[in-house]
Amino acid sequence: MKTINTDLVVVGGGIAGFAAAIGASETGCEVVMIEKNNQLGGNATLANVGTVCGAFYRKLDEQLNPAGYHFTVSTLSQLCDLSKTSPIVQADGLIMVPYEWSMLHKIIHQKLERRAVKLLTSAALAGAEKQDKNIQHLTVLQEGKPIQITPMAVIDCSGNGIVSQLLGLQMLQEETYQAASQIFRVQNLESPGEYQLTMAIKRAITRLSHENRWGKNQQSLSVVPGSLREDHVDLKLTLPDLITDDTASNDAIRSRARKRINELFPTLKRTVGYLSASSIHSIYPQLGVRVMRRSRGKYVLTEKDVLTGKKFDDAIAVGTWPIEEWGYDGKVTLRFSHTPDGYDIPASCLNSSALENLYFAGKNISASTAAIGSARVMGTCLQTGYAAGRIASGRTSVQRQAIIQELNRELSENRI
Ligand SMILES: Cc1cc2nc3c(=O)[nH]c(=O)nc-3n(C[C@H](O)[C@H](O)[C@H](O)COP(=O)(O)OP(=O)(O)OC[C@H]3O[C@@H](n4cnc5c(N)ncnc54)[C@H](O)[C@@H]3O)c2cc1C
Repeated sequence: MKTINTDLVVVGGGIAGFAAAIGASETGCEVVMIEKNNQLGGNATLANVGTVCGAFYRKLDEQLNPAGYHFTVSTLSQLCDLSKTSPIVQADGLIMVPYEWSMLHKIIHQKLERRAVKLLTSAALAGAEKQDKNIQHLTVLQEGKPIQITPMAVIDCSGNGIVSQLLGLQMLQEETYQAASQIFRVQNLESPGEYQLTMAIKRAITRLSHENRWGKNQQSLSVVPGSLREDHVDLKLTLPDLITDDTASNDAIRSRARKRINELFPTLKRTVGYLSASSIHSIYPQLGVRVMRRSRGKYVLTEKDVLTGKKFDDAIAVGTWPIEEWGYDGKVTLRFSHTPDGYDIPASCLNSSALENLYFAGKNISASTAAIGSARVMGTCLQTGYAAGRIASGRTSVQRQAIIQELNRELSENRI
C-alpha cells in the first residue's frame, strides 16, 4: 500500500478545506488535501450556491465593512474582480457577493498550487485509526487504490464530520435537517433585470398554484441573487424531500430534483414571458445540502451565542449572518443577532472534544442546529477554515495558544 507521512491532512476540498490548507501552508506546514470528487470547491462550485454571504457586517451606515482576515478579504476581492461582480446590499442591510463558480474554482487551484499543497482528488477518506488521544493513520481510497497517510494533525472539512463518524466519536446530529435545493442555469432569456424576472417568476408560481398547475410539493423557485448575466441566470429550486444523514437517500433526492426541474421548466417557460425563448443550460452536478451531522468540539456554539452576539477571548471568527433556516415548504426564515457587530466563534469550536490532533472547519464546526444555520455561510467558512489551518500547524499547546492570540488580534483589525 502507498504510504504518505505529512504534517497535516485536510479532509474535503470545499471552501473551508481550501482556506484551511492555505492557513496551514502559510506557516510552512506540509499539507495533503484529500477530496472525494474530481473537482474542488464542494457546495461553492459543484452546487453553485452563487453568492458569498457573511463576508461583511450588516450595513447600518454608509460604509461596507468586511469581516475576517486579510486572507479572506483579499480572496473575496479577487473573486469579485475575476467574476466582474460587486457586493449587493439588501434592504435589510445584509450583504452578499455574487460570483462565477468557475472563477472561484480557478482561484482555489492557483492558490493551492502556489502554496505547494499536495492534492489527492477522487480520493475518499475511508478509514481512520486513533491511539489514546490522537489520530494515527488515515486510509484513503483513490480510484479504488488504498493509501495510508500518517499525519501530525487532521482538519475535517468534509461538511459531515466524516473523521468523527469513522472513529465512532460522539457527534452533533438530528434526524432531519434543513431543506436542500437544486440550482440550475437557464440560457437565452430576455429580461430587463433581475428584480423584474424575480417578480415575474413569483407571480407565475402564485397563478400556477391557484390553477393547480404547480404541484404542491414543488416548493419555492427563486433567482440566485446577482446571477443574471447577459442571456443567462441561475435558478434555485427548494425541495420537499426529507434530508437525513443517509447519503444514499440524498442521491435519490438528487435524481428526483433533476426530474422535477425538467418537468417544471416547460410550464414556467410558457407562463413567464421573459423565459419564452429560453432553455435549461445545465443542472449543477451537486445537490445543495445545507446542513448534516457535525463534529463535537470542546465548545458547542449555541443559538443564544449567535442571537446575543456573544464575544469570546479566544475568538477566531466573526459571524455576521443571521440564523437562516429553509423549511420543507420552501419558505426561509431569518433570525438576526441583537447586536450590529455579529458574534464570535471561539477556537474551542474547531477542536475535537475527544482527540487532541483533530480539528474542524466550515459547516462541520461544533455548533448547534440553529447556530450552524448562521455559521455555515461561506464568509464564515473561509474564516474558520483559515483559523483551523493556522492553529493545527502549531506543534505544542503553547504554540497553538500563541497562534490563537495572533489570529484574535488579526481578526480585531477588521472589527467594527
Ligand atoms: C442550496 C444552498 C444554498 C446556499 N447559499 C449560500 C449563499 O448564497 N451564500 C453562502 O455564503 N453560503 C450559502 N450556502 C452555504 C455554503 O455554500 C456552504 O455551507 C459552504 O459552501 C460549506 O463549505 P464547506 O467547505 O464547509 O463544505 P462543502 O462545500 O460541503 O465541502 C465539503 C467537501 O468535502 C468533501 N468530502 C466529503 N466527504 C469526504 C470524504 N469521505 N473524503 C474526501 N472528501 C470528502 C466533499 O466532496 C466536499 O467537496 C448554501 C448552501 C446550500 C446547500
